Amino acid sequence: MRPQDILMPGPAGLACKAGGFHIDPVRPVERALITHGHSDHARPGHGAVLATRETLDMMRLRYGENFAGSTQVVAYGEEIRLGDVTATFHPAGHVLGSAQIAVTCKDTRIVASGDYKDARDPTCAPFELVPCDVFITEATFGLPVFRHGDAADEVKKLLTSVRLFPERAHLVGAYSLGKAQRVIALLREAGYDAPIYLHGAMEAITYYYRERGIPLGELKPVRGMKKADLAGTITLAPPSATSDVWTRRFPDPVTAFASGWMRVRARARQGGVELPLVISDHADWDGLTATIAATGAGEIWVTHGQEDALVHWCKTKGLAARPLDLVGYGDEDEGEAAASADEAQRAGEADA
Ligand SMILES: [Zn+2]
Repeated sequence: MRPQDILMPGPAGLACKAGGFHIDPVRPVERALITHGHSDHARPGHGAVLATRETLDMMRLRYGENFAGSTQVVAYGEEIRLGDVTATFHPAGHVLGSAQIAVTCKDTRIVASGDYKDARDPTCAPFELVPCDVFITEATFGLPVFRHGDAADEVKKLLTSVRLFPERAHLVGAYSLGKAQRVIALLREAGYDAPIYLHGAMEAITYYYRERGIPLGELKPVRGMKKADLAGTITLAPPSATSDVWTRRFPDPVTAFASGWMRVRARARQGGVELPLVISDHADWDGLTATIAATGAGEIWVTHGQEDALVHWCKTKGLAARPLDLVGYGDEDEGEAAASADEAQRAGEADA
């Protein structure tokens, strides 16, 4: 069977006709298999949603109880028979509950990896290599210039700054799902044991991580704190909040931003980021190319990001490769910002 007879890009996203489902559809569909909870992949309004328990819980937190007609929890490794195909979910190492979805029909297996990273992350299961015939890879950081380095070293920079400026508050911009909790966990691993403060938009999802057994130490809402008492402290906030009037409640804040984009100095300067921290939940160039090679796939489909460079690299390695014409992904920045604004309002931080 030809791979394109199993999975095909369509207007709603990646469609599997033989199985009667879509993966991470961008429009409402009858049956959706969802890789992870970020808002560009997990959208409300589908008939049936199949995902890991964590992804379903995150959708519930974000969109409310009625985000889908029905839901089905899929455990990592569990085989789901759908029409003529079998689907299995495998850890993607991206955020808590994130999954690659392997679709197998007869003797052909395609892995749709969603967003993934091969770097260590104490807040989620590590990326699992799934041998396959066709590997669908993201390309968010699909240029050789993107090498993320060790996230633990970036966190050390933050702690050094906190020690150097005890009279100032440190405000760390981080996406509210995944990045914020990873930064907190890395701070704890580095020995930082003071309370960590949370913007209202961070509270629900961060407490959910803790509920699922991720140790994050003492967390406090920043809401209601006296300005002077925030000197020498660390607060996590959505990126959009760190350039807002909201920051006036902090004493002379040092603004940090944890993102793979912080490798680009101009981008950090543009955003008024004083302390850029290169911490990404996506694979960097080395991670993407190493993973592609390790899957053993002879054919690579590249989506959301810098497709061209990665397609070119695959071809130089003798792999069949093509960009997938999918729209609506990789705008996690904007999507997360909008979702964070919603959550902040619900958490009573309308001034966020
Ligand atoms: Zn994502």
